[in-house]
Amino acid sequence: MENKSTNVENSTTAQTDANTVLAEVLSFLEGSKRKHYYCDDCWYTCPKHPEGCCNSEEPDRCNCGADEYNGQVDELVARARKHFG
Ligand SMILES: [Zn+2]
Repeated sequence: MENKSTNVENSTTAQTDANTVLAEVLSFLEGSKRKHYYCDDCWYTCPKHPEGCCNSEEPDRCNCGADEYNGQVDELVARARKHFG
């Protein structure tokens, strides 16, 4: 019985560790979100950047990949929270 009780404790500890690691991974992921590309030559700045793009031909949507990357982060974090929350 004592052994069984110890195993349960170990299992709980392992679970706690896994949750701690997961929380760290998720918070790292959220912290790794990208800003829209900015260039001194504003022609090349992403249209979604607060400074905007000087190229009026450029559609008003992200062309630097930040939106796509951040969207994937949001989706992964949301899915992980749903399963392990
Ligand atoms: Zn962008």
